Amino acid sequence: FPVEDIRNFSIIAHVDHGKSTLADRLLELTGTIDKTQKNKQVLDKLQVERERGITVKAQTASLFYSFGGKQYLLNLIDTPGHVDFSYEVSRSLSACQGVLLVVDANEGIQAQTVANFFLAFEAQLSVIPVINKIDLKNADPERVGKQIEKVFDIPSEECIKISAKLGTNIDSVLQAVIERIPPPKVHRENPLKALVFDSTFDQYRGVIANIALFDGVVSKGDKIVSAHTKKTYEVNEVGILNPNEQPTHKLYAGQVGFLIAGMKDVTEAQIGDTLYLHNHPVEPLPGFKSAKPMVFAGVYPIDQSEYNNLKSAIEKLTLNDSSVTVHRDSSLALGAGWSICHWLWRLPWPHAVLGIQIWGPYAQTVSTIPSQPFSQALKIHFCELGFLGLLHMEVFNQRLEQEYNASVILTTPTVPYKAVLSSAKLIKEYKEKEITIINPAQFPDKSKVTEYLEPVVLGTVITPTEYTGKIMALCQARRAIQKNMTFIDENRVMLKYLFPLNEIVVDFYDSLKSLSSGYASFDYEDAGYQTAELIKMDILLNGNIVEELVTVVHREKAYTVGKGICERLKDSLPRQLFEIAIQAAVGSKVIARETYGGDITRKMKLLKRQSEGKKKLRKVGNIEIPKDAFIKVLKTQ
Ligand code: GDP
Ligand code: MG
Repeated sequence: FPVEDIRNFSIIAHVDHGKSTLADRLLELTGTIDKTQKNKQVLDKLQVERERGITVKAQTASLFYSFGGKQYLLNLIDTPGHVDFSYEVSRSLSACQGVLLVVDANEGIQAQTVANFFLAFEAQLSVIPVINKIDLKNADPERVGKQIEKVFDIPSEECIKISAKLGTNIDSVLQAVIERIPPPKVHRENPLKALVFDSTFDQYRGVIANIALFDGVVSKGDKIVSAHTKKTYEVNEVGILNPNEQPTHKLYAGQVGFLIAGMKDVTEAQIGDTLYLHNHPVEPLPGFKSAKPMVFAGVYPIDQSEYNNLKSAIEKLTLNDSSVTVHRDSSLALGAGWSICHWLWRLPWPHAVLGIQIWGPYAQTVSTIPSQPFSQALKIHFCELGFLGLLHMEVFNQRLEQEYNASVILTTPTVPYKAVLSSAKLIKEYKEKEITIINPAQFPDKSKVTEYLEPVVLGTVITPTEYTGKIMALCQARRAIQKNMTFIDENRVMLKYLFPLNEIVVDFYDSLKSLSSGYASFDYEDAGYQTAELIKMDILLNGNIVEELVTVVHREKAYTVGKGICERLKDSLPRQLFEIAIQAAVGSKVIARETYGGDITRKMKLLKRQSEGKKKLRKVGNIEIPKDAFIKVLKTQ
């Protein structure tokens, strides 16, 4: 294929606006998949994606299409639609020259439409607006066209109106891809320069890298070098994704495809890496900014005997989902009094921080920094993972269970708070003036700091105007500050607020949805840090701290949050034979309390349930807490 006959594009959309359905139609129309194939939403390969109807991991497919007497090669790179995965979106976009921006003809522009548009706009890609679901009774493509003109400054005549479900007007979409998106700017005569924009791990074949070729050619048998590790490999297999891997002898500049070259290790499969031919070094491509974790949670195996299983599952999942960072912070001594020992090391590039914390009675002293993540020599009983958002965290949890059969307890999601140290002595000790606190158990005492800082995000809410009042009240209750308000048409408004991240991390989205009958949408971007009055709150069962429930809270919210946790814990614990006290405490001061239990009549039921679910219980003192109880307590906090 001559370069001028190649187009590389993505589909971006707010969740449920029809991206996967459109992808299916494009694949059918180009004969890539069979129309009769029952296997719909072909690009959504993961079980969790099919169940939740969302796309998590970007997938790629090459389509062949004839137009005006010419064959074209169209590379479709699927992207996730949810805000939590915008890292994957930008990665996919780096291999494209244009995007289809799909907007639902009934719902119109939503918060993620805006976020996705700006990612494409900043990457200077051609944007083709596609109004989908014109078959719906309430579809109003004219109104949506006007919104697109108002918000994105794209003339409404440029919108293509389709029904992905019925297959209406799909040809015009493919023709627009050919006519409005430029071919990639590449040089085949130059030596090979290929970008690794994604990678997956296969048990038998090792790392499968998805690559976009900027210059040159790569063939089976070539000797290639990773610009990052400088290691040399022999190419075992190259080919296109159709959408399954289909080997070809070569891949040429402008093409997108896969490459297998005997890379076996996590650190060899760096996303953003540049590959070149042995003896023909090139200037590496700029790569990617590493994903910045926004939500942290501890992960415990439910049963310590499942430790090995969990360890290897996390290892594999983080290889396939590079936006999860396994993280430990370096503020060792602030956790004084805890039998915690941890270490930290950095992958050389792209600045991923990997770390493991060793917990409680199993702690061992680590004297050397292991060269391999998850060193076999150590028992890891607790580790912390950084996520880009709450959905991301739930999806990760579900994938652990479904794909790797590992059962875990995830702790209260927290955000990375900071503390500014108060004395030169402390700064010297920690080698930093500002330390990041990820594990609430390591929250430094007020006497050591001048101020605490919390992360803030700039949130976008798009809603029908009738809900504006309620939404503003909700935002205010979450300590948000209004920044802007724009009408995108007569009955829709776009609100911009500065939110403390911890206020939206758990249930903001659900509240927003329920008070707007599902009509409001939300997205956010990072906006730095602000001063905050923070305290650490413990939850105790009969005087024993429940580690999973330790939280850092805003002073003014401590009572409400503490009371809420105690009440929910009381409701979700199984009946006990003896009385127990549930307390929320700040330091030695108890701020909320519930008592509970002493019901002998339930004894038989309890014994039965315990024998059924023995594995799913976590013991605190002499009280056993089922996994479900944690989830109930944590979910609605
Ligand atoms: P995605 O989240 O953007 O990938 O959206 P999906 O492709 O999964 O579609 C979300 C829902 O909208 C599914 O139930 C689809 O069947 C439905 N849908 C997609 N396109 C159309 C369309 O053109 N018309 C109608 N009526 N429904 C559609
Ligand atoms: Mg989808």
